[in-house]
Amino acid sequence: MLLEVNNLQTYFELSRGTVKAVDQVSFKLDQGEIMGLVGESGCGKSMTLLSLLRLVPTPGKIVGGEILFEGQDLLKKSSREMTKMRGKDLAMIFQDPMTSLNPVFKVGEQIRESLHIHGYFQESYSGGSRRLKAEKERVIELMEEVGIPSPMDRYYEYPHQFSGGMQQRAVIAIALSCEPKILLADEPTTALDVTIQAQILSLMEKINQSRGMAIILVTHDLGVAAEFCQRICVMYAGQIIEQGQTDDIIEEPLHPYTQGLLNSIPRLVPDKPRLQPIRGTVPSLLELPEGCNFMPRCDRAMEECRLPQPLLELQNGRRVRCVLYQAQAKGEGE
Ligand code: SF4
Repeated sequence: MLLEVNNLQTYFELSRGTVKAVDQVSFKLDQGEIMGLVGESGCGKSMTLLSLLRLVPTPGKIVGGEILFEGQDLLKKSSREMTKMRGKDLAMIFQDPMTSLNPVFKVGEQIRESLHIHGYFQESYSGGSRRLKAEKERVIELMEEVGIPSPMDRYYEYPHQFSGGMQQRAVIAIALSCEPKILLADEPTTALDVTIQAQILSLMEKINQSRGMAIILVTHDLGVAAEFCQRICVMYAGQIIEQGQTDDIIEEPLHPYTQGLLNSIPRLVPDKPRLQPIRGTVPSLLELPEGCNFMPRCDRAMEECRLPQPLLELQNGRRVRCVLYQAQAKGEGE
């Protein structure tokens, strides 16, 4: 197992109360697997990724759980060890490429900086100019791999001379530069138009296949996750409420929230019934109901839902956090 997250809790202590941004989140990721973290804005997806890198913004804190990367708990690593691991073992792509790239440095130099900081050629070359040459050649290779045309010329261009799609390709090149084992992609296509979105997703798929790199894709778009991911975790109000193989979740969603998400996706099929929106809005994380977080919006809520709901373990690796499946549960997930 490449990554195992157990009962992760990231809380923000505010004067108005405690925000449980990531609450008892558990999942596993195999080598070469693509997993989707899906949910509405503010449900804790991005904060889960930042927790994996131990980059939670203040006043947030990881207050519990384990993040086992190749069996070692990242929460027990020193800050120095974590700095070395970021980019080298786990790399992240952010939503907006323009804010990830520095506007005053040439794109090629920004990719090279990542190689240099992580000492990619440090052992092979002691001399500065030979190392610099090797790093530049590697940058050109990376730019070619991510589909940036004329990389020799574009090395010397600035981010504003790149289109949005090309900027995101450059960000992907930075993330790939040190060959991380896990790529964390936080809504990498949201800021792009639909055709470019498809190109970036297919590029990531190609990288996953050619390098065997595992990917965690954060997205609010269940359609994108269904297309791209082998397994999906659905998040709601800081918790994973359902997880399983993508086909199982799309064909037979179990949790009323996942069912609601699927019912609210427009489809171009004849005789499709009217879209059914999920009633109500996502609750404030400062004012969550007792028991199931989804209760105020759930049509199937009952008295038992007022109790805290564990993540139940079902057949075929499926898990769901809902009282309706207690009878068929094998036990409680971690
Ligand atoms: Fe609905 Fe109850 Fe299941 Fe929550 S636990 S999703 S309120 S049925």
